Amino acid sequence: MSQLVDKPLIMANNMTDTIIKPDMTTPNHTEKSNAEPNGNTAGQSWFNRPIPGIKQQLTAPLTAVETEPSTKCSNCHSMITNTALIFNCYVCPHCDHHLPMSARERLNWLLDQVDGELGQQFTAKDPLRFVDSKPYPQRMTEAQDKTGESEALIVMYGKLRNLDIVTCAFDFRFMGGSMGSVVGDRFVQAAEKALADKVPLVCFAASGGARMQEGLLSLMQMARTAAAIERLRIAGVPYIVILTNPVYGGVTASLAMLGDIHLAEPKAMIGFAGKRVIEQTVRETLEEPFQRAEFLLEHGVVDEVVHRHQMIDTIYRLLAKLSCMPNVDA
Ligand SMILES: [Zn+2]
Repeated sequence: MSQLVDKPLIMANNMTDTIIKPDMTTPNHTEKSNAEPNGNTAGQSWFNRPIPGIKQQLTAPLTAVETEPSTKCSNCHSMITNTALIFNCYVCPHCDHHLPMSARERLNWLLDQVDGELGQQFTAKDPLRFVDSKPYPQRMTEAQDKTGESEALIVMYGKLRNLDIVTCAFDFRFMGGSMGSVVGDRFVQAAEKALADKVPLVCFAASGGARMQEGLLSLMQMARTAAAIERLRIAGVPYIVILTNPVYGGVTASLAMLGDIHLAEPKAMIGFAGKRVIEQTVRETLEEPFQRAEFLLEHGVVDEVVHRHQMIDTIYRLLAKLSCMPNVDA
């Protein structure tokens, strides 16, 4: 039986035994290019031999993005492995787009030594019993489950190289980084710690504005945080703000615009009211780069737009200069 099957495939040759495809023996063979991409099937086993008329699938080894957890760049849509993203400070290696960082990642990235965290004891209340499509406590629980954080502002103190600093960062994933009473409490506590220890305060802002679920109480945080920053100014304690994408509303109108120095990440959106609201009000189309960090730099709102790879070095050099430390290059 096996002889009958093998017979058409193997034809005796005077020189050697050569494997010849049965259809090649026919005069009207037209699919040679499909069947034999490299023109030679000698030495291939019958299992791997291409079948005429069926396109051969090339089996390339899997790439890193196919085997590891990856993230899609929101700008150029390339897939980047999470490991590569962390090592590149969440900057896309293909298009240089600055992807968002969580507050905790940002503070751990900035500080060389974390000595402690502040404001964990504050928890949000629901004084207005506010309900929109969901009750406020339910929204809070969902945000806490999603981010693993108890509020939208994280405060840490520790060392940036040899400098003691207090630093805080907004987590935009937590209800859009909105400023409620707990965010205000934590920021004021950070400012008081900086004032008591006479060490600089660094704030990474990323917020949609005041938290509407807390009504007037959230708006009061604008005055509270502004008063805390004024106390720092009177005492000569440096306060630096880094504006990250996006910063809007009550946060822009208070703590984010009251720094001694304002740095911004490239292409960060910064404003008070959103672009669409302004367009509807002034009845004009506002073209790019309106409200981008580069636009605000041109108009004097921002002191410098700094790439994330140079951000830590820039903050350190500014703080060292403001703290009158010797032997630091400008
Ligand atoms: Zn990209």
